[in-house]
Amino acid sequence: MLKGLIQERPLLISSLIDFAADYHGDTEIVSRTIEGPIHRYTYADARLRAKKLAQALIGKLGVEPGDRIGTLAWNGYRHFEIWYAVSGMGAVCHTINPRLFPEQIAYIVNHAEDKYLFVDLTFVPLLEALAPSLSSVRGYVIMTDEAHMPETTLANAICYETLIADCDGDYVWPEFDEMTASSLCYTSGTTGNPKGVLYAHRSTVLHSFCVCSVDGLGLGSHDTLMPVVPMFHANAWGTPYAAAMCGAKIVFPGAAMDGASIYELLDTEGVTLTAAVPTVWLMLMQHLARNDQLTLDALEKVVIGGSAAPQSMIELFETRYDTRVIHAWGMTEMSPLGTTGNLKAKHKDLSFEEKIAVQVKQGRAVYGVEMKITDDEGNELPRDGKTFGHLMVRGPWITSGYFKGDGGNVLDEDGFFDTGDVATLDPDGYMQITDRAKDVIKSGGEWISSIDLENAAVDHPEVAEAAVIGVKHPKWDERPLLLVVRTEGSTVDAEAILDHLRSRVAKWWLPDDVVFVDELPHTATGKLLKTKLRDEYGDYLMQRQAG
Ligand code: AMP
Repeated sequence: MLKGLIQERPLLISSLIDFAADYHGDTEIVSRTIEGPIHRYTYADARLRAKKLAQALIGKLGVEPGDRIGTLAWNGYRHFEIWYAVSGMGAVCHTINPRLFPEQIAYIVNHAEDKYLFVDLTFVPLLEALAPSLSSVRGYVIMTDEAHMPETTLANAICYETLIADCDGDYVWPEFDEMTASSLCYTSGTTGNPKGVLYAHRSTVLHSFCVCSVDGLGLGSHDTLMPVVPMFHANAWGTPYAAAMCGAKIVFPGAAMDGASIYELLDTEGVTLTAAVPTVWLMLMQHLARNDQLTLDALEKVVIGGSAAPQSMIELFETRYDTRVIHAWGMTEMSPLGTTGNLKAKHKDLSFEEKIAVQVKQGRAVYGVEMKITDDEGNELPRDGKTFGHLMVRGPWITSGYFKGDGGNVLDEDGFFDTGDVATLDPDGYMQITDRAKDVIKSGGEWISSIDLENAAVDHPEVAEAAVIGVKHPKWDERPLLLVVRTEGSTVDAEAILDHLRSRVAKWWLPDDVVFVDELPHTATGKLLKTKLRDEYGDYLMQRQAG
C-alpha cells in the first residue's frame, strides 16, 4: 500500500471548543441557571473558563490524564465547561444520570472510580446521602458561586467559581492519541447493573461531523440549538460537541423541562433546532393546547428520539406549527446517533400522508453506521420492509465493549454490535423498530409489536400516553394488554379505544383488555418502564380468568 501524504492531526475534543472560540467567538451560549436568572456569555468566554478549569483540575485537584471526573448536572454553561476542560486535559468526563436509583448512582460512581464529582445545587442532598458509600471520591465541586454555596455535610465541598477564580486561563491543550478515552456514560440498566460506554476523542469528533451533516441533524452556524435532552443522556445526543464544531448558538434549559418553561426559551431565544424524547414534547404539546394562540415561529426542526415518535405528534408539529420533525434512533452505545428520518429526493412529490408514513419509521442510517438485521442464528435477513430481526450495527462511534469488560464480548464475528432492538429495514434503507427484543409479545408463536400498538393507541385523540405489554395467557402464552393514560377530562372507555384500534391493526393483535391508569412508570431516560408494568400486570389475564 502507498501511504497518503496527508497531515496526521489527531481528532481531539479540545479542537472543537478552539474552533468555536476562534471563529465564532461572539456567538452566544444562553443558560437557564439553577440559581434562577438567565445567564449569557459567548464561546470565547466558555473556552477561557474551560481552560481555567483545566488548570485548576491539574494544579489544585491533582487530576491526571485518564482519571474519571463525574458530573451530576443539568444542561448549563458550567456543565459545558466541565466537558471541555476534563476531556481537553486528557481526563474522562463521566456524566451521571441523577434520575437513576440512588443505589445505581453509587454503583456507577464506584465502578467508574470517579476522583471528583461536579454537582449542581439540586443534587447536593442526593450526594450527601450517598457520600459514605462513594469510596473513590476525593471531593465535591458544587457548581455555583460563593453567594449560593449551600450548607452541606459533604466533606471537601469546593465552590466552582472559587476554584477557577485565580486561574489565568493561559493554558495550551495537550495533544495526544485521538483514540484516548474522553467521556463515559452508563446505560440505564433496567435489568442488571448499568454498564459503562467509554467514548474516545476520535469517535466524538466523527459523530459531531455526522450531527452537523445535512442528512444527520443538519446543525449549522445559522442555528440556535436547544438540547433539551440532558447532557447525562447519551451526551445530549452529541449536540453540545456538534454545536461547537459549527458555531451554533446554544440554549441550555437547566432543570425546567415543563411545557411552559421550554416554550418560553424556544420563543424568546428564537430556537431553530431542538431535541428531546417524546415525553418532553408531550408536555410542550399540552402547554400549547392550553394556550392555542401560541406559535413556534422560529422553530424549524425538532429531533424526536429515545422512544418512538407517535404519528400524531409528528403530524401536529408539521401541520399546526410548520416544524419539520426529524425522527431519530440511536443508543448510548452509539454516541448515540444511528438513523435519522430525513426524506430523500424521491419523496418530494409524495402526499402528506405518504410522507408521514416514511417519517414514522426511525429513519435511515447516517454515513458511519452500518446496519443489518439477523435471525436468532445470526443469518442476515432481507431488507424488504416486512421481515424483522435483531438489529446489528457497526461503525467508528459504536462501542467495541463495555468499560472494564462488563458483559464480555459484545460483537459478532464480523464486528457488529447487537442493539437489542428488533427492526425491519426497507429497500430505501429506512429502519423501523418493531420492539425491544425483550418487549416483543409472543402470542401463539407469532410476534406482536408493542410499539405499533402503542402508536395506534396514541393516535386516539383522548389517549395521552399508552403502553402495551405481553401478559401471561393460558392458551396463547402471551397476549397484549394495553395501559392508557387518558387526556385531561376525558372519560373514553375501553370499547371506544379497541374500536379505534380495529381499523389500524390486525385482528389477532387487538389487546385482550384496556386498563386505565393515572400515569405510566418511566426509566431514568424517559422510556416506558415495562419491567415494572410486567411485574404489576403480568398475571392480569390469568387472574381475570380465575375471577
Ligand atoms: P438509550 O441508550 O437510553 O438512549 O436507549 C437506546 C434505546 O432506546 C434503543 O436501543 C431503542 O430501543 C430506544 N430508542 C431510541 N430511539 C428510538 C426511536 N426513535 N424509536 C423507538 N425506540 C427508540
